[in-house]
Amino acid sequence: MSELVDNQRNSQGEWHPAEAIVPAPINAWPPRPIQTFKWLFGWPGFIWPENIFWVGVSVFTWAFLTPELATMKTFELWWVAVLFVRNFVFITLLFGGMHYFLYMRKSQGDRLRFTTKPFPTNSGRFKFRDQVRDNMFHTLVYAVPVVTTYEAITYWLFANNYIGFIDFADPVAFWAWFVFLLVLGPMVHSVHFYGGHRLLHTKFLYKNFHSLHHNNVQVGPWSGLSMHPVEHIIYFSTVVVQWLVALHPVNALYQIHLAAFQPAPGHCGFEKMNVCPGVDFAAGSHFHYQHHKYFECNYGGSLIPLDIWFGTFHDGTEAATAGMREQLRARRHSNALAP
Ligand SMILES: [Zn+2]
Ligand SMILES: [Zn+2]
Repeated sequence: MSELVDNQRNSQGEWHPAEAIVPAPINAWPPRPIQTFKWLFGWPGFIWPENIFWVGVSVFTWAFLTPELATMKTFELWWVAVLFVRNFVFITLLFGGMHYFLYMRKSQGDRLRFTTKPFPTNSGRFKFRDQVRDNMFHTLVYAVPVVTTYEAITYWLFANNYIGFIDFADPVAFWAWFVFLLVLGPMVHSVHFYGGHRLLHTKFLYKNFHSLHHNNVQVGPWSGLSMHPVEHIIYFSTVVVQWLVALHPVNALYQIHLAAFQPAPGHCGFEKMNVCPGVDFAAGSHFHYQHHKYFECNYGGSLIPLDIWFGTFHDGTEAATAGMREQLRARRHSNALAP
């Protein structure tokens, strides 16, 4: 079957971009310096607008929406409640806002949408028999408390000088390390997500915890953090990497924000989001959409191509789907022949 282009859909109402998914050019070998430079500093690229926007959100949050570090030396209900309410509001605005514009107001119709199948509203797979309500429940009732707990522990550790081990007395070295960790944040997220996700696909963890996330076949923004709380504990543990290397709480907060916010665009169900007339932003969800569709591919992301290195990459094309089906058939056949 040929690739589907523009708004051509197959008989099941599915669409996918004509171009195959390609990993970020930092991974090219031999290196491609010009392409890498454009990817790093171009618009839209790695730095602008998405990551710089989230860095801005983290700095603003730290400066204006977080209690003084000195007051967080001991756990007290009031400051943990401040973090909880602020996270609850942020996540509701982002996830709810995207759901509202894409699926309720339908601001870009079905343009660049992967499937026109609606979210199930009468299915025993979901709490309240409704996917969106189920997803909101798991996000607001479980994800927000878990991410808030990680954030509170982070500040408590910093306030008591239990972390921040690397000793950079020189302020230039300190701020260089600060910026380096900001650039590194998305890579840390990508590698940690891949590792945790592969773990969650082992038999016991999948059956008891991760299958809940995979109830979402038609994904939307609220699907992103719709997980079992055990999966939330694994997923948000990405901040532990910053406990080991960060000198400033903003580095850790940025790592938390990436984990908390990226699942909304990453599951939005559209290749690109139209943010204003004539301007589309890549949502980055086509890569992960393949994982919800086929389960045994694309465990990570395209920033660090661990899926390519470990042979689980699906580039979104018909040829990749055919190849993956062939692989599965061969594996089932050899399992059946095994004594
Ligand atoms: Zn999975
Ligand atoms: Zn997912």
